[in-house]
Amino acid sequence: MGFFSKQNEDLGEQWRKKYLNLFDEQNKAEHAHHEKEKLLRQFIIQLSIIAEGHDKNLDPILHHVRNHVKSELDSVALKTELKNFNESVKNLPLKKKTIKADVLFEFLMRQYPDSTQQTALHELQKLVNSEETTIEQTSELFIEILNIIEPEVLPSVESDEIIEPIVYVDVYVVSQRLLQYFSALAIPAVFESQTLLLKEALLNPNQATMPFEDVLDDLVQLLLKIKEYGEAEQQDIDQFLLHIANQLSELNGIVSETNAAANDSAKIRNKLDQSVFTQIRELQVEAIKTTSLDTLKENVNQCFKTIASEIKTHHQHEKEQQLKFQDRMAELVNKMISLELETENLKVELKVIHTQATQDALTGLPNRNAYNQRLKDEIARYKRYGTPLTMAIWDIDHFKKINDTFGHKAGDKVLALTANQLQESTRDTDFIARFGGEEFVMLLPNTDSTLASNLVEDLRELIANTGFNANGKAVPITVSFGLTEFTENDTEDSFFERADKALYGAKNQGRNRCCFG
Ligand code: GH3
Ligand code: MG
Ligand code: MG
Repeated sequence: MGFFSKQNEDLGEQWRKKYLNLFDEQNKAEHAHHEKEKLLRQFIIQLSIIAEGHDKNLDPILHHVRNHVKSELDSVALKTELKNFNESVKNLPLKKKTIKADVLFEFLMRQYPDSTQQTALHELQKLVNSEETTIEQTSELFIEILNIIEPEVLPSVESDEIIEPIVYVDVYVVSQRLLQYFSALAIPAVFESQTLLLKEALLNPNQATMPFEDVLDDLVQLLLKIKEYGEAEQQDIDQFLLHIANQLSELNGIVSETNAAANDSAKIRNKLDQSVFTQIRELQVEAIKTTSLDTLKENVNQCFKTIASEIKTHHQHEKEQQLKFQDRMAELVNKMISLELETENLKVELKVIHTQATQDALTGLPNRNAYNQRLKDEIARYKRYGTPLTMAIWDIDHFKKINDTFGHKAGDKVLALTANQLQESTRDTDFIARFGGEEFVMLLPNTDSTLASNLVEDLRELIANTGFNANGKAVPITVSFGLTEFTENDTEDSFFERADKALYGAKNQGRNRCCFG
């Protein structure tokens, strides 16, 4: 309540201030008007004095005008005088461009410092002095001058121009309406400070620091933001409601399950209660009827027996239920354990299968399957990053001879030894696999053929220099290899074939060497 009455007081104060301001402005305007009028009168009097004697037809009019403006400026009367003046001047034998008005303009410029008036006067002076002047008579010049310095005094009656009515917006009324609108609006908390600022601007529209148009602009922006915010909030609420609805239906399910279980339990207990109650009622009835104490005793005993047996049955039932439940739980736990075990076994089996599928049993190196997979990966990497990829195919020289000379088992040992040397000497990023028989294939990612050749040459020498003894005899082991770098147009096959061809070349050139493909 206090808030509203305070607001009314403020409004009253504002109205008073506004009224006083307007009053002041009006006074000032009136004062300025009188000043201008005084000047205009002086100006006309001076002009009429200057012009007197020029023509005897004009003199009475000039005299008349002078008398008219001496006391006060009557624009209606002056207009009539100017029209007469104009008519008389028209009949004067004036020559073209006889107007010499520079002194007059100088005087006017001093008297009317307002920039628009100055510009208009300047333009008029230029026009008067120019060759193409349309002002041929002094009367026209005066009317033009009057139009500039006092446009309201002399409206251009002959003008065809349509004057647009000026629409005044009562800022105060608009502000009040907007304030009413705002008080009816639910403003979200995030926009409160922004709204407060605009409300202040609306409360004092004339004293606001920014123009009223800007206040309106900000207002529209704020309303749009509030609208957007509302829509987003609505979506949030919708989602939240959906979530709540889901939660409720879930809860509903649990409650109805629980209720069902509780109902069952309650039914059983009710049954027991009912039975005990009936027994006791019967006992009471019996007690009233019975005259013999022995019979009563017997009945009481009988009754307690029945109650005890029923309670016993009930407990028995509950115990059975509990045991059943425990059994089921144990069953479930066992099932879980066996499932876990099965999964674990399956994992191990899968690992074994995978290893068997990708590993060579004799050398422990990845096998041809693993190579095929790795080749795909490396080619994909090449295509993604454009880094070089080189392949080397190795083949033990005259391996058949080793087998033939030292036996198959020695041959196996040579295979395992060579595989070990190859693996130990390759970098972590390189890949080596037993391709089959006594052939090995090596993939060197991020390595061009020049760098690869250095690495692989060293390895070849190392193998050649490693001795192997079989049955006390030195077995020479040398290897040949073909080397090639992957190119943009290569496929898995073309890449391998080129390396294989290079290996064939190395064999042809005498073995224990490298050839490029
Ligand atoms: P080259 O220098 O031209 O390569 O002659 P090479 O004797 O090494 O080539 P060839 O292909 O004639 O003989 C390869 C032999 O490797 C034939 C094969 O019995 C033997 N071999 C393949 N796999 C195994 C294996 O697992 N263990 C053993 N001991 N020998 C194998
Ligand atoms: Mg071979
Ligand atoms: Mg061989």
